[in-house]
Amino acid sequence: MNAPEHARDLTPAGVHPDDLVGYEMIRRLVAFPTVSRDSNLELIAWVRRYLEDLGATTALTFDDERRKANLFATLPARTGNATRGGIVLSGHTDVVPVDGQPWDTNPFEATLVGDRLHGRGVTDMKSFSAIALAYVPEFLRRGLARPLHFALSYDEEIGCIGAHRLIADVVAKGITPTGCIIGEPTGMQLVVAHKGRKTWRCRVRGHEAHSSLTPQGVNAVQIACDLVGWITQRGRELRDGHRHDPAYDVPFTTPHIGVIRGGTALNIVPRDCAFEFEIRHLPFDDPDAFFDDLQDYARSLLPAMRAVDPETYIEFDRLSEMPGFDNGGSNPIADIARACCGSGLAHKVSYGTEAALFHNASMPAVICGPGHIAQAHQPNEWVSLEQLARCEAFMQRLAEHLCRA
Ligand SMILES: [Zn+2]
Repeated sequence: MNAPEHARDLTPAGVHPDDLVGYEMIRRLVAFPTVSRDSNLELIAWVRRYLEDLGATTALTFDDERRKANLFATLPARTGNATRGGIVLSGHTDVVPVDGQPWDTNPFEATLVGDRLHGRGVTDMKSFSAIALAYVPEFLRRGLARPLHFALSYDEEIGCIGAHRLIADVVAKGITPTGCIIGEPTGMQLVVAHKGRKTWRCRVRGHEAHSSLTPQGVNAVQIACDLVGWITQRGRELRDGHRHDPAYDVPFTTPHIGVIRGGTALNIVPRDCAFEFEIRHLPFDDPDAFFDDLQDYARSLLPAMRAVDPETYIEFDRLSEMPGFDNGGSNPIADIARACCGSGLAHKVSYGTEAALFHNASMPAVICGPGHIAQAHQPNEWVSLEQLARCEAFMQRLAEHLCRA
């Protein structure tokens, strides 16, 4: 394949890569293959050196095996203030795998195709971090009136694992920013709330029997289906109820079953069945109340099961948890981000991010970043040059806030 042309007539939106301050930085970050299962230490070391060379103080927090790290970096204000006020710019460093996906270009070599940059993580979410990093010399040239922090995390894609340690360290250091901007892909729209998500596995143990003797068995698949049916009915009630927030694309809380496995042969009453399910809930809905009710229903099934075999059971494993958040849209960080977006509209989304973790740690959060969630996790993941240019305009306006006395 020929080297991609950078010709101006290939970019209908009129943006040329040479116009972008952060273009080479995006290519550099994408070239670190930081799939969640692998180490991110090379990327972290490179960014740390880059920021320290520009005068930042940095702190690392590691996973238990020290294969992955979060980076928290601070560029102090001209006055020396490194802790009070200012902004946190936050991004996760990990990306989802490319295994089995039909890519037309090397996913770890960001490649311009027409007016779109292709590569793993260009949307989710290395471009925001790269553009922010590339703007540091500009922020310093203007002179920071308040501190600027970078929070780069590991293992976001597998459940926002790394950010917990980073945030605990920031809180312990007494750093109190005005707020936090998380650069997940929102099409550069301001997002001030997202749903929470909790996930579980349910394991049903029945009692095996010949299928001609079903009353002597306990059919784990059918018990699991009773539970699935209960969850499905609860989902209908949530859909048809009154606890809606029309600001979301899906304006109500949604339970969902994603995986079910059970049985071995049609002529055997199955002994085991397991299924995995989630609830994506509006921030004001309580996922634990849903789960408590489900457990009550499960308990109501046990006497009939145990009358056949006292060893039967229904058990639940908690898999993951991501809180929701809603910052209300009327606080300083929302005002700053609104001004930087150049749009007064604030949106709410159904996917989770690290924003809720910052928000719940007294760092009010908003989400705004280039690209669209529909392109995330896809083969040929791409971001348009126009989105990158919008992100750079955002950074220009953020410089006015950060550098204004
Ligand atoms: Zn992401």
